Amino acid sequence: MNFTDLHLIEPIAKAIKEQGYTNPTPIQEKSIPEILKHRDFLGCAQTGTGKTAAFSIPILQKLSKNNFKSRHIKALILTPTRELAIQIEENIKAYGKYLPLKHLVIFGGVKPGNQENALRNGVDILVATPGRLLDFISQGVISLKDLEIFVLDEADRMLDMGFVHDVKRIIKLLPQKRQTLFFSATMPSEIQKLADSILNNPVKVEV
Ligand code: AMP
Repeated sequence: MNFTDLHLIEPIAKAIKEQGYTNPTPIQEKSIPEILKHRDFLGCAQTGTGKTAAFSIPILQKLSKNNFKSRHIKALILTPTRELAIQIEENIKAYGKYLPLKHLVIFGGVKPGNQENALRNGVDILVATPGRLLDFISQGVISLKDLEIFVLDEADRMLDMGFVHDVKRIIKLLPQKRQTLFFSATMPSEIQKLADSILNNPVKVEV
């Protein structure tokens, strides 16, 4: 399969071409059409499989159709570490370079001032680690009421790093009506249970 078979809009197709990608990876082949059809998605995939683009590309395409009257967060990507969060935002920046969408990455361990200012300017796609996200929510800096798409990335690592409680608190704050995309390299029973509890009839892909 070639990227042209996926019917991506021109601004995204052009940006992907500039990245040097010609063919989607196996997980992208499956995820992109299904996520564009609003399906929930469960991907059992390691880093290196192209999983970041597997969710970032369809999110960008879906949000490109919005009017930009409200600048509330429409997509939230939750990931366990600062390094992963930065990498994901860099990918979104690259694939979305020809789109008028605003994206931001927030994580702990740094002063919150700059992140807070950027949030107040309006963000469409937010990449976050759990602790800093909860801090901003509790301070009323972040509202997730207009959220359309939620991505839980590296769910098994969230568990290993002791973030499951935070993740569950965040999930409780999301609108019921949303699309959920869930990624994990492994599926221990606690992760499977979490997936079952937040996904609605998902497409399942293992790579
Ligand atoms: P990830 O699994 O998301 O960490 O991606 C692993 C690496 O593969 C990253 O450096 C991406 O830039 C690259 N990549 C993702 N999708 C493709 C693709 N379709 N063709 C070539 N490289 C890709």
